[in-house]
Amino acid sequence: MALFSTPAIVLGGIRLGEADKLITFFTNERGKLKGVAKGARRMKSRFGAALEPFTHCKLVFFDKGAEKLARIEQCDIIHSFQSLREDWGGIERSSRMVDLVRQMTPDGQANEAVFDLLLQGLRFLEAKKDPPLSVMLFMSRLIACSGYQPHWEACLKCRLPFKRRKPETLYFSPGAGGALCAKCGQNTMPLIPMSQGTRAFLSASQKMDYLRAHRLRPSLQIQKECEAIFKHTLSHITGKSAQRFIKNPGPTFQGGRSFQ
Ligand SMILES: [Zn+2]
Repeated sequence: MALFSTPAIVLGGIRLGEADKLITFFTNERGKLKGVAKGARRMKSRFGAALEPFTHCKLVFFDKGAEKLARIEQCDIIHSFQSLREDWGGIERSSRMVDLVRQMTPDGQANEAVFDLLLQGLRFLEAKKDPPLSVMLFMSRLIACSGYQPHWEACLKCRLPFKRRKPETLYFSPGAGGALCAKCGQNTMPLIPMSQGTRAFLSASQKMDYLRAHRLRPSLQIQKECEAIFKHTLSHITGKSAQRFIKNPGPTFQGGRSFQ
């Protein structure tokens, strides 16, 4: 049984027996990891508050081999993200981020890009820069760094680049992983209609630095179309019902430059 140490983010936990907890982490070096924290529910637990959801910590665990739960040996807080647990908006948005990571990543597969994205996403929520936009950008970028990079620049069928075309209704295909022009989209199923503005926003949101992407100002129409695209893409990736991912579109974005 080997002892490992890695930076980690707590995705969530459930009670296990009288005194223990089963915790799911996203770790920098082992990807998603489930482990048992013995005695974590006792009043004077040695883990203290380190196992609270969203906590960025340094995790030390015994690896008991594939198919077995790790044994959490030590967990030290690097940053607690306490303020995200103090109001409903923070809890709801942070939960959305960690739930998406939990559902979209396989156990035991390291993905440094996802780890960095989740850490950045929680930091943006904590800074209250523009929380609804932070979540939207997070979803767009998570799809890209989970190994499913949709093609936004040219029609998947006829290969003609969109930017040379006049504004028109385009279509997104979750199965094919990209966009189709109006002509090629005819008689192809299943497709989700989207505007040129949505295509341009999604392309920019995945290419730009996460901080700089907060300058984007998607219109209400773009927000609605993105929600539909995320919903169907995530359901395609995970093979689960789309309803699980998007319950409501949330509040609209704060004012600023419009992105059309
Ligand atoms: Zn086409």
